Amino acid sequence: MSSEKIREIGEGSSSSGGGGVITIAPSPSPDNHRRQPSSSSPAPPPQQLSRYESQKRRDWNTFGQYLKNQRPPVPLPQCNYNHVLDFLRYLDQFGKTKVHLHGCLFFGQPEPPGPCTCPLRQAWGSLDALIGRLRAAYEENGGLQENNPFASGAIRVYLREVRDSQAKARGIPYKKKKKKKRPNLQIMASNNNNDAGATSANFQLQSS
Ligand SMILES: [Zn+2]
Repeated sequence: MSSEKIREIGEGSSSSGGGGVITIAPSPSPDNHRRQPSSSSPAPPPQQLSRYESQKRRDWNTFGQYLKNQRPPVPLPQCNYNHVLDFLRYLDQFGKTKVHLHGCLFFGQPEPPGPCTCPLRQAWGSLDALIGRLRAAYEENGGLQENNPFASGAIRVYLREVRDSQAKARGIPYKKKKKKKRPNLQIMASNNNNDAGATSANFQLQSS
């Protein structure tokens, strides 16, 4: 009681529910993984963002701008999966992947012998990666996990439809490659301490 420290934080008067302004709250990072005292791994410089992080930030800004440009503007807390679906369709106009229509002679051909007038779209893989980044960014910027529109089942269904239709139109099968060898995952996994993050750290990818 007596040794209570009270800090005054000069945050100013931040009123919640302001009109359309996306306030970015610092997210408390769950630090539940222990750092292993390894001598040979220097810490990465904290100032430089990784490529993924800077791309994620760019995507998040783009999406925020998109919501602001709606009429009326959509406040982030009211954003739902329909806005996300509209956003994905909106992005198609900037796409660079030729997706043949059903009437096109080249439908289903991976390497068409000539040009056609079919539209360019965003490739499924790009959209899939984008949604992954935005899903993470949403929660890092104060969004609640249970409200995360990027994690909605409707988004998953949409992405699957895009993948399947593009696979047919472009003649590219998105099949999972069969695993040739099984690494000894079970042995490694049985020796962990109930930490899902720790198990993946034990695996080493073999690129041969
Ligand atoms: Zn075509």
